[in-house]
Amino acid sequence: MQIIATAATNADRPLHELPPKLQACAAASSRQSSGSVRQALYAAIAQPDAEDAFFVADLGEVQRQFAQWAQLLPRVQPFFAVKCNPDPLVVKLLARLGAGFDCASKAELQQVLHEGVAPQNIIYAHPCKPASHVRFARASGVEMMTFDNADELIKMQQLHPGAKAVLRILTDDSGSLCQLGLKFGAASESTLELLRTAQRLGVDVVGVSFHVGSGCQSEAAFGDAVMRARCVFDQAASLGMRMTLLDVGGGFPGRGDQSGLAFADVASVLAAALDCHFPVSHYSHVRVIAEPGRYFVASAFSLAVNIVARRCVARADGPAFMYYVNDGVYGSFNCIMFDHQHPSPRVLTCAGQLVDAHAKAASSASGFESSVWGPTCDSIDCIVPSGRLPELQVGDWLVFDGMGAYTICAASRFNGFKISDVVYVDTEHALL
Ligand SMILES: *Cc1c(COP(=O)(O)O)cnc(C)c1O
Repeated sequence: MQIIATAATNADRPLHELPPKLQACAAASSRQSSGSVRQALYAAIAQPDAEDAFFVADLGEVQRQFAQWAQLLPRVQPFFAVKCNPDPLVVKLLARLGAGFDCASKAELQQVLHEGVAPQNIIYAHPCKPASHVRFARASGVEMMTFDNADELIKMQQLHPGAKAVLRILTDDSGSLCQLGLKFGAASESTLELLRTAQRLGVDVVGVSFHVGSGCQSEAAFGDAVMRARCVFDQAASLGMRMTLLDVGGGFPGRGDQSGLAFADVASVLAAALDCHFPVSHYSHVRVIAEPGRYFVASAFSLAVNIVARRCVARADGPAFMYYVNDGVYGSFNCIMFDHQHPSPRVLTCAGQLVDAHAKAASSASGFESSVWGPTCDSIDCIVPSGRLPELQVGDWLVFDGMGAYTICAASRFNGFKISDVVYVDTEHALL
């Protein structure tokens, strides 16, 4: 476990420490992002009685990620996967920028429709839907929805005859942190029969979708999946059906992702696979969309936590410290359990003094053996099991960067602790 003692974000970390792939990205964004997020952190902890953990969200970072997508994947329209972070301002901003949305429930559909998003820019991307939610989609004019089994086709025929069904296929997600194929996706042996069933029922199947798995660690998965999607397009053609939608799903890395996978590399593999299996010369009638979640929001949120208690433990090789902070595994750090993350803190204050983000990073050999724990009474509530930190005091602050994906949305109030608030900055004047 590596603890970054002083670097603020990847944008603040000396460039030579970053994998080469990330250097260009960081260089491009360091100018705008670091100052303002840092100022917001400093301002919030300088408040009298400041104690609660809080997020700083940079809407400008979301806009930069959007701009990068448009630049590197111009053929693919992103539909933000709302479940990843349904933050109201993030949704509002992405709606303004012209993104589409991937919703998986009635409440997510309502949130996005409330922002004025056109139903044609919404996909109900859940292959197993409650009947009442399907009825709501129909009443709202949302037509695109995924399926991967025959029962769902019957549901659409009965409850939403105008639905534009999208067949979610199984792909190889063995290289991903969250393997969604355990639960969803039609196996290649079953796709032809499903298409025949849809034809018999009179359900309009307009295209194919897949999800290579969230936290995908290999760009090759996208190339393989696009090839499989093309096979299903060919099966449909053999039945006289003309498909017009390809949905390449989510799984794109956020900026500074721990996997080391860079979006630019995924984008180039995906773009090449599209050119190969869906050349514009023959497939200009096919709308290509994607469902990125993590990609847009991971790097846009930093979480500051306060050390509310500590324990010094005598050990043969010197003292070790256990720090207890006020957000944990039952709160924002549920990403450790559900999203297989390994968050690393940096020190914001040490003995009450601000630690300069541009100071030379402390060597990992210095400091003391340390662990960081959440606020609840449960021993599973451990954020960092082992690492090295300088000696910190009760009242000092730690910051975890890259906390925008699959954090707040799944946090609970277990043990009576509140869900951390969000402070917004907007380094690009994107919305605020
Ligand atoms: C969770 C999910 C996404 C978003 O995945 P990311 O890895 O965050 O990009 C997209 N589509 C579907 C169907 C999902 O379940």
